[in-house]
Amino acid sequence: MTFIEEINRRRTFGIISHPDAGKTTLTEKLLLFGGAIQEAGAVKNNKIKKSATSDFMEIEKQRGISVATSVLAFDYKNYKINILDTPGHKDFAEDTFRTLTAVDSVIVVVDVAKGVEEQTEKLVEVCRMRNIPMIVFINKLDREGKDAFDLLDEIEQKLGLTVCPLSFPIGMGWEFKGIYNIWEKNINLFSGDSRKNIEDTVEISDLNSGEIDRLVGNKAADKLREELELVEGIYPEFDKEAYLKSELQPVFFGSALNNFGVRELLDCFVEIAPKPKPKYSEERLVEPQENKFTGFVFKIHANMDPNHRDRLAFIKIVSGKFERNTPYLHVRHNKKFKFSSPNAFFAEKKEIVDVSYPGDIVGLHDTGNFKIGDTLTEGEVIHYKGIPSFSPEHFRYINNADPMKAKQLYKGIDQLMDEGVAQLFTLELNGRKVIGTVGALQYEVIQYRLEHEYGAKCSYENLSVHKACWVEPEDEKNEEFKEFLRVKQRFLAKDKQDQLVFFADSPFSLQMTQQKYPSIKFHMTSEF
Ligand code: GDP
Repeated sequence: MTFIEEINRRRTFGIISHPDAGKTTLTEKLLLFGGAIQEAGAVKNNKIKKSATSDFMEIEKQRGISVATSVLAFDYKNYKINILDTPGHKDFAEDTFRTLTAVDSVIVVVDVAKGVEEQTEKLVEVCRMRNIPMIVFINKLDREGKDAFDLLDEIEQKLGLTVCPLSFPIGMGWEFKGIYNIWEKNINLFSGDSRKNIEDTVEISDLNSGEIDRLVGNKAADKLREELELVEGIYPEFDKEAYLKSELQPVFFGSALNNFGVRELLDCFVEIAPKPKPKYSEERLVEPQENKFTGFVFKIHANMDPNHRDRLAFIKIVSGKFERNTPYLHVRHNKKFKFSSPNAFFAEKKEIVDVSYPGDIVGLHDTGNFKIGDTLTEGEVIHYKGIPSFSPEHFRYINNADPMKAKQLYKGIDQLMDEGVAQLFTLELNGRKVIGTVGALQYEVIQYRLEHEYGAKCSYENLSVHKACWVEPEDEKNEEFKEFLRVKQRFLAKDKQDQLVFFADSPFSLQMTQQKYPSIKFHMTSEF
C-alpha cells in the first residue's frame, strides 16, 4: 500500500457520552465487527486486568471509573480504525477535552430514555467549537424511551446541532420491530438476539410496496411511511460536505447491547468520516501527506507497570511516517530522542510497531521528558497548538506534610502537572501553591500518587475560588491594568507557563471586576 493509501484508509475518532449511555458497549460491538475481539465483555475485562497490574489503577477499580483514556485500533473492510476512548466521568472531563484534540471525528451516544444529559452537552460544545464532525447514535431502542421526533428536537436544541436522521426506528421498547435504514434503503429486523453478529437485512426499494407490511405488520408499516415522510419534510438531506464541516450531524438509532444498528452505523461511518486532517501549528498548516514526520503529545499515562514507574506518552501522528529507532526532535527541549519500542494499541494488547502513519497513535515510554502539548518532528521547529487548559472547578492549597521530602514532593507535583492531572498555580502575594482540578476526585489521585510514586506526603487546605480566569490586558502599561494588579493582588496567581491568572471568588465578583476594568479580558481557557 502506498503512503497516501495508508493515510486515506485511517479513521481516528472518539466516542463521547454521558456515563451509562452505552459508550463501552458500543466500543465493544465495534471491535467485534473488526474481529478484534472474540466475545462480548472483553473491553470491560481489559479494564480490570489493567488495574490489577498498577497501583494507581486501584483507585479506578475501587471506584469503577475508567480513569485511563485508551486507544483501540482494528481493521474493518479496508479501513484502519483508531478509537480513542474518552472517560465519561465529569471529574476527568479535561482528559476527554484533550483527547478531542487528537480525533478527526466523534460519535455521540445518547440514551433514548434519558435524552441529552449534562456531560454530553459539555463535550458536544467542545466539538462544536472545534468544528469536529459528529455522528449521533441513539442507543437502547430495546427500552421504552422518548418519541424519536421529540428526541431529535431535544438534540437540536440542547446540543445546538442540525440533525439528519440516516436511520429511523420502527416502534420502540416492547414494540421495537427494527430499523429502517434511510442511508442504505433497507430494513433491519430486530430479533433481540445479541449473539448475532450480522443482522439480516431486507432491501426495500419502494416504501409503498407491501414488503414492509409483510415484515412488520400493516399498522407499523403505515406509521413508518408517515414518519419517513415527516423526516423528509423536516430535516435537511444528507450532505457530506456539511457533515465534514460540522454543520450537519447524521443520526442513527439502535441498541448497542443487542448489537443492533451498529453495523449500519459503522458502515456509514467508515464511508463518510474524515481521514486524518491537516493541523495548524503556530508556524503553519501541516498536511498529513507531507513526507516528514510531525506529531504531538495529547496524553500521558502514568506507570502502567509498577516495576518500572515509567510513563507512556501518547503521540498523535499528524504528518509523515513515524519510524522506530529514528531520532526525532523534541521541540521544547531542542533535543533529539530515539524510541526503540514505540507501542501501538490493539483491542486486547499493545505491540511494538516499526512504522505508524498519520491518524495513528503511538505510545512512547517516557521517563519525564514529555508534557502534554509537546511537539515531535524530524527537525523542523513547529509548535502544535490547541491543547488549552480550562478553568478548574476546585481549588485547594497544597502543603508539604513531610519536611524531609520536599524535593520529592516538588518533583512529583511537577510531573503530575505535566501529565495534565491538575493545574498548579502560584499566588503572587506569598508564593503559596494552589492545585486546581476539574473534579474533587483528582485530589485523592494526586495524594495517592505522590505517596506511592514519589514517596512524598501532602495535605490540602480549602480555598474558596469560583473560577480561575486567564488575564489579557489591552496594554500592560496602562493605568487601569496597573491599578488592577495593585488592587487585586490577593487574587492573582501565575500558572505553570507563567501566565497571569485571576481567582474570582464568585460569579458576582468576576462580573464586578470585569465592569471595573473594561480594558482587561478575562478568559476561561489558557488559549486565547
Ligand atoms: P458507558 O458508561 O457509556 O460506557 O456505558 P456502558 O456501555 O457501560 O453501559 C451502561 C449500561 O447500559 C450497561 O449496563 C449496559 O449493559 C447497558 N446498555 C448498553 N447498551 C444498551 C442497550 O442497547 N440496551 C439496553 N437495554 N441496555 C444497554
